[in-house]
Amino acid sequence: MPSYTANIRDMQFVLHELLHVSSSEVPGYADLERDFTEAVLDAAGKVSSEVLAPLNPVGDHEGCRLENGVVRTPKGFDEAFAAMKEGGWTALDCNPDYGGQGMPYVLNCAVGEMFVSSNMAFNMYQGLTHGAVSAIDAHGTEAQKALYLPKMIACDWTGTMNLTEPHCGTDLGLLRTKAEPQEDGSYKITGTKIFISAGDHDLAENIIHLVLAKAPGGGEGTKGISLFIVPKVLVNADGTLGARNAVSVGKVEHKMGIHGSATCVMNYDGATGYLLGDLHKGMRAMFTMMNEARLGVGLQGYAVAEAAYQNAVAYAKDRLQGRAVTGVENPGGAADPLIVHPDIRRALMDQKSFLEGARAFTFWGASLIDRAHGLSDHDAEGLISLMTPVIKGFLTDKGFEACVLAQQIYGGHGYIEEQGMSQFTRDARITMIYEGANGVQALDLVGRKLAQDGGKHVMAFFEMVKAECKAHEGDDRMKPFTEALKAASKQLQTAGMYFMQNGMKTPNAALSGSYDFMHLMGHVCLGLMWTRMAKAAYAALDGGASDTGFYEAKIATGRYYMARQMPACAMHLARIESGAEPVMALAADQF
Ligand SMILES: Cc1cc2nc3c(=O)[nH]c(=O)nc-3n(C[C@H](O)[C@H](O)[C@H](O)COP(=O)(O)OP(=O)(O)OC[C@H]3O[C@@H](n4cnc5c(N)ncnc54)[C@H](O)[C@@H]3O)c2cc1C
Repeated sequence: MPSYTANIRDMQFVLHELLHVSSSEVPGYADLERDFTEAVLDAAGKVSSEVLAPLNPVGDHEGCRLENGVVRTPKGFDEAFAAMKEGGWTALDCNPDYGGQGMPYVLNCAVGEMFVSSNMAFNMYQGLTHGAVSAIDAHGTEAQKALYLPKMIACDWTGTMNLTEPHCGTDLGLLRTKAEPQEDGSYKITGTKIFISAGDHDLAENIIHLVLAKAPGGGEGTKGISLFIVPKVLVNADGTLGARNAVSVGKVEHKMGIHGSATCVMNYDGATGYLLGDLHKGMRAMFTMMNEARLGVGLQGYAVAEAAYQNAVAYAKDRLQGRAVTGVENPGGAADPLIVHPDIRRALMDQKSFLEGARAFTFWGASLIDRAHGLSDHDAEGLISLMTPVIKGFLTDKGFEACVLAQQIYGGHGYIEEQGMSQFTRDARITMIYEGANGVQALDLVGRKLAQDGGKHVMAFFEMVKAECKAHEGDDRMKPFTEALKAASKQLQTAGMYFMQNGMKTPNAALSGSYDFMHLMGHVCLGLMWTRMAKAAYAALDGGASDTGFYEAKIATGRYYMARQMPACAMHLARIESGAEPVMALAADQF
């Protein structure tokens, strides 16, 4: 059975030596002293490895099943859910006015990484609730917040997000679920939603569904959509539970991975719903949650890969096959361990250099969200808005690739279910699809985010990269980082220029290159993170840090990323500059 141990050392490095959280002016950050975050991460790490990780294969084997209209979760999920509630883990960064602990989001991300690494499917029940809590907190009336938030923050009631319908996922303007206004101010919600995560289960006494539906008078397309609170069990004004609402589960899906997470068809048959936020502004309300939700999925992408990587390392040290080309390394054994072979090292370094870069990128993104919220910093808001599709799309694509690499290290044993490596690959796959499929993330980046606020945020990003490279001029040790970063940033700017020059007259030219642009930008972002991390590691070594092994490995891993991954930027640029012609050359009937 695979095991998982939280990489607290690296998280602490990112929080304190890269982001310097406790000296930041962002509200709440001053409390994030090293000892404090160590204690929180240590406690969360124990829950992850002792409670959640052992349940991961159980959830995978058992899955969820529909019994007499109620979804049953796998054995042990209820006790673990109770332990998560008891430990206050569901409330870490939630609003203290409603029972939350008010910690910064960046700390919630660090803890969230551990929970996802140890059991992604289980963590979805709480993760979806967190999204619904944020939506109600941001858009609810005072009465709605008082009625729903305390129970949801405690996870006595969980939450869902209902967007997708059978005929539409990406193009939500097509949705058909109807909301009919009632005399008492409520609405009757009628329609079918599909693929709803945590749509039903036996872990909580109530489920608060947030449902996108069309109310009369809103017009065509996404403009007419509103957002509604639709409780599974209606809630009386005093907070007690009332009658069962007209919401039912049609089916629990059988799927490739995350078997422990109930993915449901939800039927709304004139269910009572309450408007959340402004009428006909439902998409806007949903979109305010988007940065956080998409960052959460990007985090899932690399967090599952972290668990896969840890097991691949252990296997590579244990499994004896062949001899090192440079001479026998394990004379007492029948063969040398896999880890002596350069090709196994390549696979491990690909994973390690991606994972540590992805962690830094995600925590940095979370710190931008904290800054945007806590200081009403519009530049931080603009920057995270630009980065969101990259965090979501790039980290989930690469996270899946990293899972496959970890599986490959096991050879045939990686393909056999018993070893558990296949589960990581299967679980990670969905992160590339939900919360906006990755192709759509790339469209969002190129079609919307680059030009947002007149291109101000992308220009600010280029300036940030330039300033980082300039800051290390004259430091020869930093050259492998700054040279690669400078070259990649130039390639990114050239690609942006290509879109500006060709996108208007040939929109297909921009859209044919959007996926490559997302990956090119992903590498530049990780290159920037590695440059900053290398600088921090050199500073620690220069300052006489005792933990030299950690810092030396950090620098070597960064150098690997710059030497072996950044050259992909040239390939992405070449593809972008080839334009639409090679992509669109065939007529549909030639496929
Ligand atoms: C396990 C699981 C859990 C889920 N959980 C939830 C949930 O909790 N709540 C919820 O509401 N939904 C949920 N979903 C739904 C998920 O968000 C959608 O499946 C996803 O957004 C894609 O929508 P779709 O499946 O309809 O694909 P489509 O929209 O039909 O897209 C199909 C493909 O075409 C591409 N595409 C679409 N439009 C364009 C375009 N204009 N240009 C280029 N490419 C395009 C997409 O990238 C995609 O690859 C879940 C799905 C799964 C499988």
